[in-house]
Amino acid sequence: MLKIEHIGIAVKDLNQSNALFAKLFGEAHYKIEAVESEGVKTSFFKVGQNKIELLEATNSNSPIAKFIEKKGEGIHHIAFDVADIHTEKERLKAEGFVVLNETPKKGADNKWVVFLHPKGTNGVLVELCQEIKD
Ligand code: ZN
Repeated sequence: MLKIEHIGIAVKDLNQSNALFAKLFGEAHYKIEAVESEGVKTSFFKVGQNKIELLEATNSNSPIAKFIEKKGEGIHHIAFDVADIHTEKERLKAEGFVVLNETPKKGADNKWVVFLHPKGTNGVLVELCQEIKD
């Protein structure tokens, strides 16, 4: 893995949280993006060289709605940049990690993403991501 790409935080109200985190970081979010397939609306903040993603559910079946129902708002996942998402996915499977989606999905912020099951990672939902190049 190359670096932490971003940290994802589940929130109930994206507008309210955008205002709150803008105060915290001293800078507003730089983009808002909906990912229909995941039932989420996201916003991204830059903090120095790091990124924070806020996620709000857009429907009650969204994984974010279910997460908040169970655990409340808070850190939802840690995303890692990888050079080759297929190679990394196969390496992690061989190490015994459980992959949630075999085929990389289009995530927010122009990335291919693969998630690992948090049961195999001490409760941390891990997102692998690789920039989509066209
Ligand atoms: Zn993410």
